[in-house]
Amino acid sequence: MSKGLVLILSGASSVGKGDIREALLNDPDMKLFYSISETTRPQRPDEVDGKDYYFVSHNEFAESVKKHELLEYTEFNGYYYGTPKPQIDFLINKGKNVLIEVEAQGVGPIKLNIPEAVAFFVMPEGFEQLEKQVSERYKDDEASIQRRLNKAKMDMEIAPLFKHVVSNADTEAAVAEIKRVFMERLEQRK
Ligand code: 5GP
Repeated sequence: MSKGLVLILSGASSVGKGDIREALLNDPDMKLFYSISETTRPQRPDEVDGKDYYFVSHNEFAESVKKHELLEYTEFNGYYYGTPKPQIDFLINKGKNVLIEVEAQGVGPIKLNIPEAVAFFVMPEGFEQLEKQVSERYKDDEASIQRRLNKAKMDMEIAPLFKHVVSNADTEAAVAEIKRVFMERLEQRK
């Protein structure tokens, strides 16, 4: 049995990665399983522990780092986020494809560990549109808006390093392009 293939979905915060991710996960042709990250960020009302994230304490996160259980981790907007390695190893060794969603800096360490992973960067239509989206989503927290926008600016600067960049202007077109590239890669490995 061949190993599963990893799809990395990256891009600035609030760029609409969530909609693209859901469409990819719901596409039966892609046979994708979602890599659930650990985070110290507080759970939002619409989120489910163990589905959207594993919501953990600082001590629990530090323990995962100490045990080398994270493929990569980062600090974002004052909280830690990390990609658990055991669940990814388990899935790809069973031949399952895995979708990992990370901010841009998480991509390098994942590619170092899993060189054949296929990475996509979701680019906002423009910075003004992103500013509007971030301001609407985090309207009660001006400091968070500024931190997310600064991070988005930095992320957009490293976007040209990605081989595959899709625009968030048209979710359907972005999903179709990601699917085309990923299916092609799956076909090449046969
Ligand atoms: P949010 O707080 O909006 O759920 O996520 C903030 C950012 O962290 C998003 O850009 C998301 O893609 C990214 N993120 C989520 N999980 C991980 C992870 O395990 N590692 C890294 N590097 N980034 C992550």
